Amino acid sequence: MAVEKQRGGVPAVATWEYASAPESREIVSFKERYGIFVGGEEVAPRSRSWFTTVSPATEEPLAEVAQAGPKDVELAVDAARDAFEPWSAWKPAERAKVLFRIARVLQERSRELAVAESLDGGKPIKESRDVDLPLAAAHFFYYAGWADKLEYAFPNRRPRPLGVAAQIVPWNFPLLMLAWKIAPALACGNTVVLKPAETTPLTALLFADVCRQAQVPPGVVNIVTGDGETGAHLVRSPGIDKVAFTGSTEVGKAIQRELAGRGIPLTLELGGKAANVVFEDAALDQAVEGIVNGIYFNQGHVCCAGSRLLVQESIHDQLVRKLKRRMATLRLGDPLDKNTDIGAINSRAQLDRITELVASGSEEGAEIYQPPCRLPEKGWWFAPTVFTNVAQSHRIAREEIFGPVLSVLTFRTPDEAVEKANNTMYGLSAGVWTEKGSRILWMADRLRAGVVWGNTFNRFDPASPFGGYKESGFGREGGRHGLEAYLRFS
Ligand code: NDP
Repeated sequence: MAVEKQRGGVPAVATWEYASAPESREIVSFKERYGIFVGGEEVAPRSRSWFTTVSPATEEPLAEVAQAGPKDVELAVDAARDAFEPWSAWKPAERAKVLFRIARVLQERSRELAVAESLDGGKPIKESRDVDLPLAAAHFFYYAGWADKLEYAFPNRRPRPLGVAAQIVPWNFPLLMLAWKIAPALACGNTVVLKPAETTPLTALLFADVCRQAQVPPGVVNIVTGDGETGAHLVRSPGIDKVAFTGSTEVGKAIQRELAGRGIPLTLELGGKAANVVFEDAALDQAVEGIVNGIYFNQGHVCCAGSRLLVQESIHDQLVRKLKRRMATLRLGDPLDKNTDIGAINSRAQLDRITELVASGSEEGAEIYQPPCRLPEKGWWFAPTVFTNVAQSHRIAREEIFGPVLSVLTFRTPDEAVEKANNTMYGLSAGVWTEKGSRILWMADRLRAGVVWGNTFNRFDPASPFGGYKESGFGREGGRHGLEAYLRFS
């Protein structure tokens, strides 16, 4: 153990030399090349075009993946349409069995899928293993339970499926977002065409195999890979009956414009700039853990990340000191190492975006702190970062950075905390840290955010609805509310 003096006036911190604890990557084998998954089979894309997906931690190519064109998208939509009538006519309890089987297969193959997720996306294995995979399986279990109870969920409203659901997911939680979308859609009797993000297609392609194993009828789940153009083709397709999108506010707005006048129901889960509000009576060490989890979990590639820390002025210095000390213990590196806290940034483009926003923070006068940490030579990395002395007008306090970067602001009174927390175009989540339950409820009443966590952060449960206010989108995923997005009522 060595003791060293940290930068930025932070007290001396002990550093430990950990032995590495790598998860074996042997458990997952990727094919050299993947087609699209249509009608229960993998088919070569009509576009005859492929791209390479790489590991963001090493830049090593992992596999070639189809760049689906308009004809491929239509093929998938047609397959979903053909499958819709028979699938929606299945006895609901039989549909439930299919969902239960998917959940079980996800559990059985969870180690393989977790390694694949970390390889393709760069997230630490402890997160893909302990969060993404268990939650993805839990979503299928949860919605399997609802499949034959829709009449009870919506009494006297005669719930009916919508038809073919077009679903577009981002790269931060590839398999988990797939589960959030596919599980409720199938439980309600819809069929789906899903497009994963360009940089993280592999777990969706492995999920195609999970579907075959779970005996999902051909055409009920279809997967088309490609870039944003593929997503745009899917949204434009005349054969779809529903669109569900998670991603940037900019693309969400473009999709909304595209669907205008077509009468197609839409759910949008977009960006966020969540306030994590710490009152002077909070348990500070516990709050520090919540702050770290809130912003450094998944490298901050989290739409509901607690990226704005609002601290009551009286405890600002003490809390920031504790936070910096805790940050110095975070381990950045190989995503497959079980000790790793912070993995790779998902893509070169995202790293450039984070770098640019961080530079703007310094230029605008905020004070930056990064603990000493060696970044690997290959791949895309960004050290955990905290900015103090941040003004509400700074770009780092207003724009979604989607990286491991925290902006610290202060407040004096609860009213001021609410005012500042709500001073954003987003409204996805918020956190409140205080000893008083009544204050949590008082704050939750006033915060314009879809989710408010009390003395915790980034907690998810399939039974709990999730979604935004304002430019964070509309519609809810999860819980009974999540069913409503895939039903019409007659
Ligand atoms: P996008 O919104 O571009 O990506 C989300 C998904 O939409 C991906 O599957 C993408 O495909 C697809 N897509 C892109 N363009 C279109 C289109 N015109 N029509 C239909 N689908 C489309 O996010 P980015 O990857 O560009 O990230 C940019 C920023 O967005 C991030 O820095 C972050 O701030 C925010 N973001 C927020 C997320 C959230 O969960 N709220 C998730 C991801 C990003 P492809 O990947 O192939 O381009």
